[in-house]
Amino acid sequence: MNKKTVRDIDVKGKRVLVRADFNVPQDKSGQITDDRRIREALPTIKYLLEKGASVVLASHLGRPNGVRNEKFTLMPVAERLSELLGFHVPLLSDCVGPEVDAHVRAMKPGEVALLENVRFHKEEEANDTVFAKELASTADIFVMDAFGTAHRAHASTEGVARHIPAVAGLLVEKELRIMGDALSNPKRPFVAVLGGAKVKDKIAVVENLLGKVDTLIIGGGMAYTFLRSEGYPTGGSLLDSERLDYCKDIILAAKAKGVKLLLPMDHVAATSLDGNGTSRIVDGEGIPQDMIGVDIGPQTGKAFAEEIKTAKTVVWNGPMGVFEVPEYSKGTLAIANALVESSAVTIVGGGDSAAAIEKLGLADKVTHVSTGGGASLEFLEGKVLPGIDALQDL
Ligand code: AMP
Repeated sequence: MNKKTVRDIDVKGKRVLVRADFNVPQDKSGQITDDRRIREALPTIKYLLEKGASVVLASHLGRPNGVRNEKFTLMPVAERLSELLGFHVPLLSDCVGPEVDAHVRAMKPGEVALLENVRFHKEEEANDTVFAKELASTADIFVMDAFGTAHRAHASTEGVARHIPAVAGLLVEKELRIMGDALSNPKRPFVAVLGGAKVKDKIAVVENLLGKVDTLIIGGGMAYTFLRSEGYPTGGSLLDSERLDYCKDIILAAKAKGVKLLLPMDHVAATSLDGNGTSRIVDGEGIPQDMIGVDIGPQTGKAFAEEIKTAKTVVWNGPMGVFEVPEYSKGTLAIANALVESSAVTIVGGGDSAAAIEKLGLADKVTHVSTGGGASLEFLEGKVLPGIDALQDL
């Protein structure tokens, strides 16, 4: 990585503002249902404390749309963080203002405080310069550790970096190192597995990966537009009729580049997406008019898994079917298991595939599960993430 990290600077006696991603899932009563994002922030916090800094944490939570709304308070995060760190982490009343300023300026090395939700201010998402300057004003150094929001140029992810020295935290460093190495210098064969609902959402990823991978596997809802473009009957399956030509071109481009492109050859076809209808396996004859492809079939699962077995690097983004319905999650499970059994560098891009592998309890059996859905997708697209770009160069 060509950006400075916390390891490259002296933080002793400094006040360090850390942008973390504490946008955790919660149930209706506000209880945190998965604290992975909080746990992932601990290495940077502990590192800074060990090196003699005081740490001021900032994050967003949910979409309060620029107004204060107690439903989106970071209080549950402060409580969980206190448990994980083993000492009390106070939640400040806001993220800017005289009260916050006074508290932060009085902090001593080894102390931690959490600012209230930065999205309680509309200036956050507008990346307002005055607001960014105010956020930066109480700190000596800014540490960007919120990989999950690094693709957004907001005041607390990008704006602050223009006012005080800004470096990457250990989580961002890890995300960039593992995914960056996989994309720029992969051990080969390099296999990418793409799934999910929409072709549209993955176009830039497909185009970027076509120039890098040896094999591209496409499953999930997006596969049906590819299959239809080749004349295969897809019945009532998801179809992006505007992108049939595009899919045809991708198939031709893969051939021209010598990239092996694998599409599903059998399917679970169902009468409804929600698991309440009937379903059966179909292959060569195609999906009947009155049915929908909801998962890759068993032969396809095997073939995709075999291909993954030959790989030295695997990147996976997007489920192979409607995995939320247990009956239609077998294809996604087959991919997850193939990654787990592989000795390759295995990377799960965030979002639904990360959720699927977490749900299966297999997250710690792959090399890396990215903490950022949108951010890892944009990284796979080859885009520069504004929250990273703003950091000091090495
Ligand atoms: P994405 O956010 O693009 O990764 O898409 C994830 C969503 O795609 C999940 O909610 C899946 O249920 C959905 N999905 C995957 N395969 C299919 C399919 N064959 N038909 C409809 N939806 C699908």
